[in-house]
Amino acid sequence: MIDFELTDEQRLVRETAREFADREIAPRARENDRNEHFDTELVQKIADMGFLGAIVPEEYGGRGVDYRTYGLIVEEIGRGCSAMRTVVSVVTSLVCSSLVRWGSEEQKQEWLPQLCSGEALGCFGLTEPDTGSDAANLKTRAQRIDGGWRISGGKMWISLGNYSKLALVFAQTDPDKQHGGIACFLVPTDSPGFSTQEIHGKLGLKGSDTAELSLDDVEVGDDALMGEVGEGFKIAMSALDSGRYSVAAGCVGICQGSLDASIAYAKERRQFGKPIASFQLVQELISDMVVETDAARGLVWRAGWLKDTDRPNTTETSIAKLYATEAAVRCANAAIQVHGGSGYVDDYPVERYLRDARVTTLYEGTSQIQKLIIARAATGLNAMT
Ligand SMILES: Cc1cc2nc3c(=O)[nH]c(=O)nc-3n(C[C@H](O)[C@H](O)[C@H](O)COP(=O)(O)OP(=O)(O)OC[C@H]3O[C@@H](n4cnc5c(N)ncnc54)[C@H](O)[C@@H]3O)c2cc1C
Repeated sequence: MIDFELTDEQRLVRETAREFADREIAPRARENDRNEHFDTELVQKIADMGFLGAIVPEEYGGRGVDYRTYGLIVEEIGRGCSAMRTVVSVVTSLVCSSLVRWGSEEQKQEWLPQLCSGEALGCFGLTEPDTGSDAANLKTRAQRIDGGWRISGGKMWISLGNYSKLALVFAQTDPDKQHGGIACFLVPTDSPGFSTQEIHGKLGLKGSDTAELSLDDVEVGDDALMGEVGEGFKIAMSALDSGRYSVAAGCVGICQGSLDASIAYAKERRQFGKPIASFQLVQELISDMVVETDAARGLVWRAGWLKDTDRPNTTETSIAKLYATEAAVRCANAAIQVHGGSGYVDDYPVERYLRDARVTTLYEGTSQIQKLIIARAATGLNAMT
């Protein structure tokens, strides 16, 4: 039986995250967005709160919280600023959760404490210039050499890539084997032959770092291989199971933020001698946001509960990701409508919410890809082969 009742500890964590997001994150969001500033000082504050790697066991420097609690933290950070929420999602879900699940004891001890404390950031290098949705079709090659591997190729759209000390790099070891040849490597970004380039001109998420990675005959030892050769695709998909949950939870924050801002504005703003909140068409915009926020949160909590109780959850995570990301776009758009002309400039957070929400239906699997996953489970037929 799914139990949506929060424990006292979960309430406390949510309260702490909410207060932190209001005090530290939200006030910096506009300037960081305007200046395309990746705010490393704020990232450190987030780490100091224990919000990076919160699901990592305490013995490796994490907080050891469950997925439902993690979702509450991510929602609050997402309400404050999606650029910072992206940091939490990438480091915690894509990088740390992969290490926890697939890393050797040495790999966990080397990387997890640094990632949880904010001493190091990590990035997730799956996408390539020619390889997006068809993620198994990687062009990056890893070739066996004496005592290790030589990796060559390029990765595209990699969040935190310019600031990370560790890159998870997915590479093909044997093209004939397709999925079965993919491996995941833990590549220190100061390795000779590893370089990065900043990507600018994004619609939103301007306070987040996005990079293109180049690997030019980067040599790593055997100890850089995470899991076995051939397990790389499984590692990537399990990381995305956690990452999609995190994106979805952040989008609940965008929905809630859009709603909160709209209610406050609509009660304050007067037209025709009355607060605009009293007009039925404005009430419709607000009621749609209430319903979408509730529905998105319910789906995220269900996915979190399935994860916490070790039940299969890939489909339910995709359902939560699909719904919450699309709902965030709709809620942010409706919030601009409630704000009228004022919603079109950055005096209020709603235009940033819309620009930031827009990427969430693209990354970690587009909405189309989530639909194919959901329909694959429903029909037993895989449209992605
Ligand atoms: C700001 C930002 C940050 C990112 N961060 C990271 C990161 O940290 N790490 C990382 O590895 N990647 C990252 N990405 C990449 C992201 O995951 C990809 O952009 C995404 O997976 C889509 O791939 P693509 O851009 O190549 O689009 P494509 O795969 O080329 O898709 C283009 C369009 O075709 C549709 N399409 C493709 N295949 C099908 C199909 N079979 N059926 C129906 N429609 C289909 C898609 O849904 C989409 O609408 C990031 C992207 C952005 C923009």
